[in-house]
Amino acid sequence: MPEDLTPTADAAALDSPPFLPFALPDIGDEEIAAVVDCLRSGWVTTGPRTRQFEHAFAAYLGGNVDAISVNSATAGLHLALEALGIGPGDEVIVPTLTFTATAEVVRYLGAHPVLVDADPDTLNLSLAAVEAAIGPRTRAIIPVHYAGLACDMDGVLALAAAYRLKVVEDAAHAFPTLYKGRLVGTLASDATVFSFYANKTMTTGEGGMVVTRDAAVARRVRLMRIHGISQDAFERYTSRTPAWFYDVVAAGFKYNLTDLASAMGIEQLRKIDRFLLRREQLAQAYGNGLQGLPLRLPPAPEPGSSHAWHLYVIRLQANARLDRDELIARLSERGIGTSVHFIPLHRHPFWRDSCRLSPEQFPVAEASFACMLSLPLYTRMSDADQQRVIDKLRELLT
Ligand SMILES: *Cc1c(COP(=O)(O)O)cnc(C)c1O
Repeated sequence: MPEDLTPTADAAALDSPPFLPFALPDIGDEEIAAVVDCLRSGWVTTGPRTRQFEHAFAAYLGGNVDAISVNSATAGLHLALEALGIGPGDEVIVPTLTFTATAEVVRYLGAHPVLVDADPDTLNLSLAAVEAAIGPRTRAIIPVHYAGLACDMDGVLALAAAYRLKVVEDAAHAFPTLYKGRLVGTLASDATVFSFYANKTMTTGEGGMVVTRDAAVARRVRLMRIHGISQDAFERYTSRTPAWFYDVVAAGFKYNLTDLASAMGIEQLRKIDRFLLRREQLAQAYGNGLQGLPLRLPPAPEPGSSHAWHLYVIRLQANARLDRDELIARLSERGIGTSVHFIPLHRHPFWRDSCRLSPEQFPVAEASFACMLSLPLYTRMSDADQQRVIDKLRELLT
């Protein structure tokens, strides 16, 4: 019997729609054609498309910023901290409710991440916790714009000014996000780092962008992203000095973005306003569809600010019939993928043990982690896909 005719054990599976993944990238014919063009061009590593992508990204943000592409946001955070002189023995304040990359880059430089608790409303870092964590060795703060809603940057920048600290924004979730009328990336921090990882609001497969208005930081990031070599390969290839000549002026890294990735990035960036509009529609529809359930929905942005809706994080209230783990399992059985953002860093063995952390230090992150899950929200979801998520949640929670 041919395999495709074998009756399936679960007849019901035939009737049910396919599994709705938690996230999917939105790659169109434009990205595919651009990558094929790049392949045919003969120049696949960092070159003209990367320069074009950087210029287009900086132009999108406005505000006279310089944009330096890198092969991940993790690399970008590392380079930004390095350019700001963070080194051995320094302390850098990092929220516990983030991905491990935000903290690990501090360790790359021999410095120590000092984890702080979250604000109960926004789940962004708590300003009171930041201020309490500042000590004589504190050199920088890395605010993370959690889920795509900007931190209280006026508050962060005021603390930074008062204590003479550097600020590097982890904007992996926040492209594009408005804070009081200005895009994240153009605020008065020292540098801002965006991610183009596969599930972010736009993607190059892997990739990131360091954005800064500080010319010295930009110069150092550019240098260190490619081995501490004074010119990149394309500059050497096209310049009038002999192509074989270069100066190594520092022990740099290998963090450059390829033209293949940049070709994708250019096309994704052209679509970003449309992507955002769709994300906003989906967030609004969740807000309406989930009314009346024992859920705490994500906060809306304040007037003049916006939400990138990279994540739609809901929190189960204490009176819900299911706990978080049960809800995730029941949704998965019903064909719906979800996730959790994040397992707080203080719960991971490495950070817990090396920083000697205990859960009592982070009551808000602990309480939120226990009841939070992230629902699917991405541009390739249809209204019907989303209605299924809403229906299943209503079925399970009422
Ligand atoms: C995804 C993510 C990163 C890392 O981004 P990469 O481009 O994968 O290195 C850093 N911080 C946060 C908060 C993230 O969600």
